[in-house]
Amino acid sequence: MKKKDNQTLISFYIITIFPEMFTAISNYGVTGKAIQKKIIDLSFLNPRDFTEHKYKSIDDRPYGGGPGMLMSVKPLYLSIKHAKSLLQDAIVIYLSPQGVKLNQNNIFQLIQRKKIIFVCGRYEGIDERIIDSLIDEEWSIGDYIISGGELAAMVMIDAISRFIPGVINTKKSLEKESFYDNLLDYPHYTRPKKIYNMTVPKILLSGNHDKIRLWRLKKSLEKTLEKRPDLLEKKILQKEEKIILNTFKKNKK
Ligand code: SAM
Repeated sequence: MKKKDNQTLISFYIITIFPEMFTAISNYGVTGKAIQKKIIDLSFLNPRDFTEHKYKSIDDRPYGGGPGMLMSVKPLYLSIKHAKSLLQDAIVIYLSPQGVKLNQNNIFQLIQRKKIIFVCGRYEGIDERIIDSLIDEEWSIGDYIISGGELAAMVMIDAISRFIPGVINTKKSLEKESFYDNLLDYPHYTRPKKIYNMTVPKILLSGNHDKIRLWRLKKSLEKTLEKRPDLLEKKILQKEEKIILNTFKKNKK
């Protein structure tokens, strides 16, 4: 996926009653720059603009009783329909704790979708008929409940954007991050060499790139084994990695 001049690579339409929250990603950091460079594009639709209610209310009581409110059907339905007409062929994603749990591999697949409409739920969520009729996929950011889909959409947009060429300066830095190839990142150090009586591992100051590469690989494997052994079960190990892991296991005995 390469950017031609003036061509946005991924367009996001976000259906939310709190569009202001998104300044957290549109005004700052990596995503802010991606928007400035027109690599990604964020647009918003607010269900409040689609309600005929006197006080612009966009919530309603659930049938059958029970605690909490739901988002009203009509304003949400109309805003999704409108977003679909503005961003044709877009996939419609509902941020939901009941969705597929996000990880680095499925984020990588999501960048292939060039147009995404995110539906941010609030209150106790949205009417099931909207899910049945307008939602293509449901995605979750983890097994816990947050108060609205906005933070989840921002997490997804940030994570997706990092994979788009031109957003992060070098492809190499992505390849060294945790979860790439089912490994955790190796430890990092910066200047000064000594601070508060703490030093930097000597090998990193040696200038010997082969030895540094091997040290980082060992540390990566060591951290993964210690903190996330489940990742190693999924990993296809190279010969060198097998030897390092076997040595760790022998030394432990
Ligand atoms: N009653 C819902 C349930 O138990 O499944 C939770 C509703 S939650 C308070 C309100 C909204 O936050 C949801 O509609 C959804 O859009 C969003 N949300 C909450 N947790 C989420 C998660 N783990 N991943 C993605 N979105 C989430």
